[in-house]
Amino acid sequence: MTEPSTSDLVFLRAAITEAHAAELAGEVPVGAVIVSPTGDILASGNNRVLRDHDPTAHAEIVALRNAGLALSNYRLTGCTLYVTLEPCAMCAGAILHARIARLVYAAPDPKAGACGSVLSVMNHPQLNHKVEVTSGLLAEDCSALLQNFFRARRQRPAALAHPNPQGERPGSDLDDNEEGCEESR
Ligand SMILES: [Zn+2]
Repeated sequence: MTEPSTSDLVFLRAAITEAHAAELAGEVPVGAVIVSPTGDILASGNNRVLRDHDPTAHAEIVALRNAGLALSNYRLTGCTLYVTLEPCAMCAGAILHARIARLVYAAPDPKAGACGSVLSVMNHPQLNHKVEVTSGLLAEDCSALLQNFFRARRQRPAALAHPNPQGERPGSDLDDNEEGCEESR
């Protein structure tokens, strides 16, 4: 873990703006941006699993794809990924494959986080690539964003809730996610 800098705050706020964009589209509010070694935002992404009917369309994956296209390179060597929520196992794996140098995330995810909360995919001792990790900056803001989203969704009548693609009973995916679990993206 390393200490956050002033620019970390700026880029994390850009990731929060992305999270708001997801929320406006009815998606669980998670956002990410990827910054080049020279400090420019290369790409951004927000959670769009519902819109794309794609379980892999987490904010980090969307941002990684956009950054790869921007650089015409699947390796994002030296880049930093900022995200509002601790990456899950899938995203942690993708971040490692992309050779991201540094990860800055805001809120921990006690239900699916793979940077130490539940699993330790990031910086697993048997993996070669090491990612510098900074966490906790703006964590309360990002947690509140998720909690408010789930609270509002629970208060909606079941008939208006977003149809569950798994065909489960309406609201069944909400009960487990009071703290803003990434799994429900
Ligand atoms: Zn993920």
